[in-house]
Amino acid sequence: NAESAMYHAKQSGRNNFQFYRSELNTASLARILLESGLRNAVDRQEFLLFYQPQMELATGKLIGMEALIRWQHPEQGMVSPGEFIPLAEETGLVIPMGQWALKEACRQSKVWMDQTGVPLRISVNLSGIQFRLPDFTEMVMRTVGESGLPPHCLELELTESIAMGDVEETLEKLTILSRFGVLLAIDDFGTGFSSLSYLKKFPIDTLKIDQSFVRNCTRDPEDAAIIRAFINLAHSLNLEVIAEGVEHLEQLEFLAQESCDEIQGYFYGRPLSGDKFEMFMLDAFAKKAQPQTLL
Ligand code: C2E
Ligand code: MG
Ligand code: MG
Ligand code: MG
Repeated sequence: NAESAMYHAKQSGRNNFQFYRSELNTASLARILLESGLRNAVDRQEFLLFYQPQMELATGKLIGMEALIRWQHPEQGMVSPGEFIPLAEETGLVIPMGQWALKEACRQSKVWMDQTGVPLRISVNLSGIQFRLPDFTEMVMRTVGESGLPPHCLELELTESIAMGDVEETLEKLTILSRFGVLLAIDDFGTGFSSLSYLKKFPIDTLKIDQSFVRNCTRDPEDAAIIRAFINLAHSLNLEVIAEGVEHLEQLEFLAQESCDEIQGYFYGRPLSGDKFEMFMLDAFAKKAQPQTLL
């Protein structure tokens, strides 16, 4: 009967509680602390953006930067996105966080554009949760509009799995954004196991070759062949192609030889705080383009 069911529920509830309490190890405690910290991070202004420079291979010019979020945790110091983005996605906190990141990226690049007169492109990463929001396109257009940044200076990065989530919805949203003028990139290209037919279906501008292919491209002929194929695919479809994770001169030389359009990686520059990126940028503009010194 109902009474005994209630009794059993209470009993097992109590057992569960004891079970969880004994299992409340340091790992789950750390997670709980991280989650409660994350809840306040936007309000307490603990997020910041780092900027990683991107170079055009044919000219050696700085042509853009990727905005990469960091969390300045009051006790734990700088926390990298790999540690908190999965949690931010599970809890929905990635929505205010992502909104902040977009707004801040637009604000900062408008400031730099006004200061230097050079319209660099800024790339911002999206979470699938953010992209799937019904008012996502309106949010982007409003944010870009309010910042005064020309829409073509903003590039939104989405992964294959985000794009393939709901293909009709993706097509509709990307079409709106593309007509508005923002650029669209596929991040971590080659890791998503998805059909390539979406590349002709969606209004994509750029493929970002995942760093896992770049890592061994000068030693592993198969990685070299994959990169070559990606570059040819991109160019055949009239897309720009950028290689991520370029750490060594030999990789840069290989990519230049294969006519890759752009590179991003520690070789050219690490992700930098706003102040340090500004110095990097002013330095790059002062030196002008000197591709020969890079190649
Ligand atoms: P991602 O978008 O693929 O960004 C590239 C990652 O590779 C960055 O890690 C960058 O610091 C790192 N990297 C760049 N050059 C090199 C290199 O030469 N060698 C190596 N080994 N690594 C390099 P980071 O900053 O830790 O970001 C990790 C991921 O977190 C990003 O991968 C992106 O998926 C996500 N993320 C970063 N910022 C945001 C954001 O604002 N919103 C969302 N939703 N995701 C973000
Ligand atoms: Mg990215
Ligand atoms: Mg990537
Ligand atoms: Mg194009």
